[in-house]
Amino acid sequence: MSSAASSTPVLAVIGGGQLARMTAQAAVSLGVPIRLLAEGPDVSAAQVVRDTVVGDYRDLSVLREAVEGCAVVTFDHEHVPTEHLETLTAEGHACRPGPAALVHAQDKIVMRARLTRLDVPCPRHRVVTTPGEAEAFAASVGGFPVVLKTSRGGYDGKGVWVVGSAAECEDAFAVASSTGVRILAEEKVDFRRELSALVARSPSGQVAAYPVVESVQRDGVCWEVTAPAPDLDPELGVAAQRIAMKVAAALDVVGILAVELFETADGRVLVNELAMRPHNTGHWSMDGAETGQFENHLRAVLDLPLGSPAARAPWTVMVNILGGDHGALSEDLYGGFPHVLARDPRLKVHLYGKDVKPGRKVGHVTAYGDDLDDVRERALHAAAWFRGDLGMESE
Ligand code: ADP
Repeated sequence: MSSAASSTPVLAVIGGGQLARMTAQAAVSLGVPIRLLAEGPDVSAAQVVRDTVVGDYRDLSVLREAVEGCAVVTFDHEHVPTEHLETLTAEGHACRPGPAALVHAQDKIVMRARLTRLDVPCPRHRVVTTPGEAEAFAASVGGFPVVLKTSRGGYDGKGVWVVGSAAECEDAFAVASSTGVRILAEEKVDFRRELSALVARSPSGQVAAYPVVESVQRDGVCWEVTAPAPDLDPELGVAAQRIAMKVAAALDVVGILAVELFETADGRVLVNELAMRPHNTGHWSMDGAETGQFENHLRAVLDLPLGSPAARAPWTVMVNILGGDHGALSEDLYGGFPHVLARDPRLKVHLYGKDVKPGRKVGHVTAYGDDLDDVRERALHAAAWFRGDLGMESE
């Protein structure tokens, strides 16, 4: 039984990963109770949310149980089936973002078609059904290599292939035929770097746009984020923010929208993909912005006034802690604290309560300050120490 006043809504969060855990962290501050639907009793967010239902988000009866008594429903991931969200909406639950918006984060083919109609710049693309069609597409964009992607179900670089010939397309089409997903072919963009434009949008239409950041991926996984993106042409930064605001409004996104972008060698921005939830490229804002993305996601889905997305310091660098492969040294994250915290009293550490497996996202660190090189070194050092990469060396 919640002791909160009666007008306080209960917010249902579907999915029990670290995004739900950090959403819960923001909800604690605002005094908003959360009901969690988690995949298991011990997953990241279930460790910190008392009111947890354990079950499968693909099962409508489980979803109904989880959202009962909750005015608003939001998400840790984008995988809840659209038809279930439509049912919940018809039954009076406000799903934020709603199913009509969310499909653009679930299906890359739907997303590309919609953005193209909105005149939002995207890589050239085409839906392909055979290696021969992929070859014809490649010929139309200047030849191989091109990028093939599954329309649905990809994440962290899974479901993305860079192919250099028709023969190399076989893997993608094998996945397509075994899973029933379609394949999207895209030109391989010659990008200088990857950027991300994050906005929070409320049902009333208020929007808060975060500074555009640079993200660095390794093996398809986000490694490092710098806010703001260094040396970004101010006009290009504004263009990226405008794209995010336009997409959020046109798709009626509620909550955080992350627009992942390529900055091309010739000075344009092209949309790579959309996420409609707090995003890894926004983790810097928890410590580096006046209002973090998790708090603004909560404010937005509850239709409360949004908080300032302005940066607190000239530079913020977030580095993910990915599980290392140094055995016990990598597994004992807590054992990293004495060194990391003593070396850098201004550093912020976020651990997700997950078992350490090589390459798995188990936490992140954030440093901010006036000097980019210094801030970056501090964040990279701490993440490397937690991974166990530096633990054997003396300082
Ligand atoms: P995921 O759903 O796994 O995040 P993405 O579509 O973001 O998949 O692709 C993963 C990575 O592959 C991107 O971060 C980028 O580095 C690369 N990539 C994707 N699409 C293209 C493209 N059209 N041109 C060049 N590189 C691409």
